[in-house]
Amino acid sequence: KLYNQVQDLKGNIRVYCRIRPMMPGQSNTLCSIDHIDERTVTILTHSKNGKEARKSYTFNKIFGPTVTQAEVFSDTQPLIRSVLDGYNVCIFAYGQTGSGKTHTMIGPKELTEEGLGVNYRALSDLFHLSNQRKDTISYEISVQMLEIYNEQVKDLLSTDEIRNSSQNGINVPDANLVHVSLPSDVINLMDLGHKNRSVCSTALNDRSSRSHSCLTVHVQGKNLTSGNILRGSMHLVDLAGSERVDKSEVTGDSLKEAQHINKSLSALGDVISSLASRSSHVPYRNSKLTQLLQDSLGGQAKTLMFVHIAPKYEAHGETLSTLKFAERVA
Ligand code: ADP
Ligand code: MG
Repeated sequence: KLYNQVQDLKGNIRVYCRIRPMMPGQSNTLCSIDHIDERTVTILTHSKNGKEARKSYTFNKIFGPTVTQAEVFSDTQPLIRSVLDGYNVCIFAYGQTGSGKTHTMIGPKELTEEGLGVNYRALSDLFHLSNQRKDTISYEISVQMLEIYNEQVKDLLSTDEIRNSSQNGINVPDANLVHVSLPSDVINLMDLGHKNRSVCSTALNDRSSRSHSCLTVHVQGKNLTSGNILRGSMHLVDLAGSERVDKSEVTGDSLKEAQHINKSLSALGDVISSLASRSSHVPYRNSKLTQLLQDSLGGQAKTLMFVHIAPKYEAHGETLSTLKFAERVA
């Protein structure tokens, strides 16, 4: 309810911008962030002739460099409740490699309780809330984990270690959908999925930044009095790095990767911006990602995009292009 009250004209699409802190040792590095307040970030540009220019971008919320994982999640939480009410929800992390996408969704490499990202907190909330309702609604929760790399979908939970699964994944009929009943089940599955994903990375080619990963949670609730069934779903998507690749500098596989990423991120941008502008045609068919998420984007579905920027001035060009992308969908 609270979520519905605070919705603005753009309806079911919200965009949050998160600014990561400087890396350790970077404290004296030139910064491209001039100013932030609750909804606006102002970027400083130094031109060659020494002139300074400022441009501001406005979103539903800005999370500055000192904002904690718990604070980020508290603004996400109302969406989790709506999954249990039968809504479809998509949460995306967008930004260049190193800007903090995985930090937001999963957490830092050395995970502590405080560091837990949106994925863990969302799942633990789902269990907590479904438990609170257990006298009126009986919920079944299952998860699927996919990777999209070069427009090919790979099931990250397809391994012998997994039991209790059925091959009737959401929008990917032969993907494993695994029934879970405890937060620790999900943590184990996420670990497995991440291991499965990193197998494909080589030292020179960190595949995780070149592919999209999508954790999907499927919820089915049965009302114990009426027998009515409701279904909700949540997609938690850590997108491929949005950095533009200089075509003159890469060839072969890297060029192919870059083209696929470019195509799917712009397809996502096109879908969200046509939803935001209430256009009658929504171009879902232009990428695997938007096809996969089609029934969770638009209609009654709720979308949240976290756009990530790095403060260091070296990232200035990418920061501006990230903010431009975000402005288009906000
Ligand atoms: P991406 O997934 O966008 O490539 P990461 O999430 O891996 O970026 O972030 C790169 C590094 O910066 C990681 O070591 C991560 O833990 C750290 N980092 C990112 N965002 C934050 C933040 N908000 N606070 C502290 N450390 C962060
Ligand atoms: Mg990452």
